[in-house]
Amino acid sequence: MRTVIKNVIVVTMNEAREIFSPGYLLFEHDTIIAAGPMKELTEEILAGASQIDGKQGILMPGMVNLHTHMGMIPFRGLGDDCKDRLRVFLIPMENKAMDEEMVYLSTRYAAGEMLLSGVTSVLDMYYYEEEAARAMDEMGIRGIAGQTVMDEGACDFSDPYEAISYGERLIKKYHSHPRISACIAPHGTSTCSSEVLKAAYSIDSSYEVPFTLHTAEMDYEMDFFEKEYSMTPAEYLDSIGVLGKDTLAAHCIHMTGKDLDLFKERGARVAHCIGSNTKAAKGVAPVTEMLKRNIPVGLGTDGPASGNTLDILTQMKLCADFHKNETKDRSAFPAEIIVSLATIEGARAMGLHLVTGSLEPGKQADLVLIETQSANMFPVYDPYSALVYSANPSNVEAVFVAGECLVKDKKLVKTDLDGLRNQLFQKMKGTDFQKHMGKTE
Ligand SMILES: [Zn+2]
Repeated sequence: MRTVIKNVIVVTMNEAREIFSPGYLLFEHDTIIAAGPMKELTEEILAGASQIDGKQGILMPGMVNLHTHMGMIPFRGLGDDCKDRLRVFLIPMENKAMDEEMVYLSTRYAAGEMLLSGVTSVLDMYYYEEEAARAMDEMGIRGIAGQTVMDEGACDFSDPYEAISYGERLIKKYHSHPRISACIAPHGTSTCSSEVLKAAYSIDSSYEVPFTLHTAEMDYEMDFFEKEYSMTPAEYLDSIGVLGKDTLAAHCIHMTGKDLDLFKERGARVAHCIGSNTKAAKGVAPVTEMLKRNIPVGLGTDGPASGNTLDILTQMKLCADFHKNETKDRSAFPAEIIVSLATIEGARAMGLHLVTGSLEPGKQADLVLIETQSANMFPVYDPYSALVYSANPSNVEAVFVAGECLVKDKKLVKTDLDGLRNQLFQKMKGTDFQKHMGKTE
């Protein structure tokens, strides 16, 4: 089936950064066939195609959320203003209440929330990831299910090596799936032993899937590596041989110039989570320095217990605000660069840049239509500026993943949000976890 979306501002994010205004895009089944200016939209192109009038909206590539924890929707808003909620609060509650069904229902809800905001690709990192992969597949989103591993064990496996074997089975299971894949995602640099990190890295790199972990995020992580090894976390990862082209490090707030040079040399990539980092008062990652070195960087929301919302439009705005403020330069981080981090560069960091991230013939039809009829979207002089500084998730009109329409008229097509919410809420009510809801200690 052929579909034409016409009368839109097409923001391609191709190499030449072409914009067609007004323009059209043609896709057939799951693949983009053509994009160009409206004046080149001939009868021949239109023949036999269903037509969507984009009403001068902005058609952009589906956004990429490079780092999140989809199973954590039940924890959103808990302990938001606590000093340390991870160890005193989240991990104990996870051990008490998290199970396969909760991960499945939470991941379905999170996928729905992301699709409604224009995210079409996501790298998830959590427990019971077979359930997360199943949920993402059913919801139609493109995703990588990262099975988290920790030395001390977690709600799914008490032994990290069992979690690694489970992760490898999952990688094999989804190896030839068109949208879903899997990886092993160690929790962090200081929560996994070097043996565990090396075992996970060797499996991930042999399947060429991301080896992703929290890196250079926490003050205590920095102190630990300084005290134990006189190294930074990045130097430590390199010293044990797990810093390579498949390494995708989340956060990277506390990075020295030498760390960044190491990342560049090894081809490692970064998931920048500006909203989560600044909300937790941890600092602003040196992204200007990363981009100067051509280190692949994309944007992540972090989990709903950290960054609260899972949309990338919010992260784009925060990215502009904080980096301009940090550099005291109003012209720093122009909107075009930020849109590239949210799309093609995010796809590159995820290893999917040949598949998605730009609107070009041959790529997957992962598309987002942002309407420009709402009060906040008029006028549009520069579509990059409109996307970064004006747009919010309520402007997302339609979303396609691999050519399948998953959001239409601002509503989910395959399922409805009320249903997803009710199912998850019933499950939350049925757990011990309910007792702790709303309490911060
Ligand atoms: Zn995280």
